[in-house]
Amino acid sequence: HDSGTGVAYSSNSATGVVVGEDNNKKKRMDTDDREVIRALRKKSRQEYLKKREKEKLQQLDDWIEHEEFLIEGLELSEEERFLEANKKFSESVGGSDGGEYRFPEAYDGDGLIDQRRRFGAASKRDTGGFEKLESWDDHQLQKATVKFGSKNRKREADDYQLLFDDSLYKVEGQLLPGKSLDDENTQKLDYVSKKHIGDGRKRLPIYQLKDKVLQMIHDNQVLVIVGETGSGKTTQLPQYLHEAGYTKQGKIICTQPRRVAAMSVAARVAVEMGVKLGHEVGYKIRFEDCTSEKTVVEYMTDGMLLREFSSQPDLKNCSVIMVDEAHERTVSTDIIFSLVKDLARQRSDLKLLISSATLDAEKFSDYFDCAPILEIPGRQYPVDILYKQPVDEILEEAVAATLHIHVTQQPGDILVFLTGQEDIETVEEMLREKVKHYGSKMGELIIHPLFANLPTELQARIFDPIPEKARKVILATNIAETSLTIEGIRYVIDSGLCKLSSYSPRTDMGSLQVTDISKASAMQRAGRAGRTGPGKCIRLYAPDHFQNQMEDNCVPEIQRSDIVSVVLTLKALGINDFKNFDFMDPPSDESMIKALELLYALGALNSKGDLTRIGKLMAEFPLDPKLSRMLIAAEKYGCAEEVTTIAAMLSVDNAIFYSPKNLQAMAENAKKRFEDGDVGDHIALLRVYNSWKETDFSSGWCRENFIQARSMKRARDVRDQLMNLMEKAGIELNSNPNDLDAIKKAIMSGFFPHIGILQGSGSYRILKGLQNVQIHPKSGMAKVQPNPRWVVFHELVLTRKEYMRQVSEVKPKWLLEIAPHYYERKE
Ligand code: ADP
Ligand code: MG
Repeated sequence: HDSGTGVAYSSNSATGVVVGEDNNKKKRMDTDDREVIRALRKKSRQEYLKKREKEKLQQLDDWIEHEEFLIEGLELSEEERFLEANKKFSESVGGSDGGEYRFPEAYDGDGLIDQRRRFGAASKRDTGGFEKLESWDDHQLQKATVKFGSKNRKREADDYQLLFDDSLYKVEGQLLPGKSLDDENTQKLDYVSKKHIGDGRKRLPIYQLKDKVLQMIHDNQVLVIVGETGSGKTTQLPQYLHEAGYTKQGKIICTQPRRVAAMSVAARVAVEMGVKLGHEVGYKIRFEDCTSEKTVVEYMTDGMLLREFSSQPDLKNCSVIMVDEAHERTVSTDIIFSLVKDLARQRSDLKLLISSATLDAEKFSDYFDCAPILEIPGRQYPVDILYKQPVDEILEEAVAATLHIHVTQQPGDILVFLTGQEDIETVEEMLREKVKHYGSKMGELIIHPLFANLPTELQARIFDPIPEKARKVILATNIAETSLTIEGIRYVIDSGLCKLSSYSPRTDMGSLQVTDISKASAMQRAGRAGRTGPGKCIRLYAPDHFQNQMEDNCVPEIQRSDIVSVVLTLKALGINDFKNFDFMDPPSDESMIKALELLYALGALNSKGDLTRIGKLMAEFPLDPKLSRMLIAAEKYGCAEEVTTIAAMLSVDNAIFYSPKNLQAMAENAKKRFEDGDVGDHIALLRVYNSWKETDFSSGWCRENFIQARSMKRARDVRDQLMNLMEKAGIELNSNPNDLDAIKKAIMSGFFPHIGILQGSGSYRILKGLQNVQIHPKSGMAKVQPNPRWVVFHELVLTRKEYMRQVSEVKPKWLLEIAPHYYERKE
């Protein structure tokens, strides 16, 4: 979930035009600016495509080179080689055409990866003859070639079945039975073959309920709507309401837990309504406001709606609020539930829609005083669920399963669920390598990553149509579980994992953690394979794991994450009585108390628990309170500009440096230059930004230094926005790039709870906690000898070990200077 912390990508400021989020006044861009921006977007897309084309050609070249080399060793023409291989293969499986199609010994039983190992990937040059085709992939490809070429369709289908069911993946039957719709309805609903958008809209499951929905909304103030992903809730409902005239009284606001969804859905609806994005239909996400005075349908992240509440508590310019993806139960959504419930009592003219993709809607209905529930009949084709207990690293398993489907299965796109950007990029690279290796021997595989921080224009590409014979693979985080609908998915590969924020009030530390998904999520994921026809889902875990290890439902975020920023937001909304606040599921008392304590320590609350001047300022920044505090403190240390840059760089996550496998050493050297003098990761980020700025924001410079230009542009946008906010808050933007101690002290003013102290080689203990942690291996401080004794860190991430990320060395005496109140109990 990213609406609270994710950072918007926007190419706007490439022109120097800042489309500001401005709490009270909406800044509007004039038409010229829009044209420029659009042109720029288009240009960058074209450049990207050109680059991709080039890469493809390069891949082809590589392949041809490689292939010649192969053939040279083989001394067979390609055709002969296939024939030969075919013959050998047929022999080894006992008869070819007409005969029973079975696996050779080695393919039976124990798992894909094992067999790959057994066949080995011996060097192509020094083995002769048929052995050259010995790797598993080659074998599969060979079979595929044979099958596609020489067997009739039915036969093919049988083979697929055999391949899929008997060998590698354990079938657990159809866990998701199809729901039958009568024929007429099926036809009516068959939007797969939609010709144009108008028709498409009418084919969505929600369309047949349009009148009913409108009637129910008319008759009830609050309505709970449940329908499977893709039924049309997000894109259609606001349009129906607009058409029915609700926008005459005020805006329709629709919240999304994810930035990506807010942008993509708004773009889609603008197309469907035939208007320009930002005119009648727009979106608002953190650091990006794409709305105007004309906007009547506004998609926004749930975090943004919370901010709207603080500037306009009665939301009087809005007539309908749709809380979408309610089942996600993000912290912001949970708070919004309570706020809108209250608001609805004051404003009888306001309509509330609570929409959810899962069936446990009674809870929502109960909460909203028994609001009626409308269920949209869904369309779900049967999905076969296959299990494969991972033998190898989960990422390799995901790659193997993808290729397995690609080579053996009938057409249909693949959706792979992974945990986050890093894993997605690794899998993407591994797949591209495979594709490159096989070149045209394998059907074309079009790979799209999909995660929250992906630039908009790349996100949009997942919807691009693909050539007829090609297959699309989407590598996604749980973004693709319910918030985005992608057509044509027939196969799902489910890692069974996701990244969740977790918080332990005992240790007072939040961290991102890779954890098992819930059964509900697993079913949602599998369900994505059966929207356009019968599908298959490969789960990379054991059936037993699903039954006994996975929870039924995910614990609501508010009960498992750090709620400091929520408490600050509530305080800023004037809500003080948390005991009687109407939470759907309340956070634990302990985490509430810890949040209040931290806000007190940060100076946001006084001893009576009231918001201080600093607290009010902090609430103005759409940042983690620790970051806001650091920004505000910076003025005192004379380095506001530097600290703002650091905050912006920290906000674009760890996506600044990249290190391609073949150029790792060069990339590391480039990175070392910024870390020179063991200044720590914070200062290194500052140096990166300032050096980039000196080159006048050159992309070429980024390439030379192995820095991701798009992350830098995002950082620049965020920095611009933060500068505006600082200025508005009356903070002087002073600057002193050379006083590194002052900069670190400012950082510590916000991050004094994040102090690690060295215990023994490489191992740290968190000062006011119990955990043992280490410096993240990618940190510039990881290899510094002797290990720094005291460090401040930005965040904890839990993968195999618990790591501190973004680390700098500090002096213990600063602690006493900056946070004596926080640490005095320890002394
Ligand atoms: P729900 O909210 O019920 O999951 P949506 O309203 O998001 O459903 O999607 C309805 C349909 O609209 C999808 O099945 C898909 O066909 C289409 N759609 C949604 N977003 C896009 C997009 N960005 N590009 C193309 N089609 C889209
Ligand atoms: Mg939706």
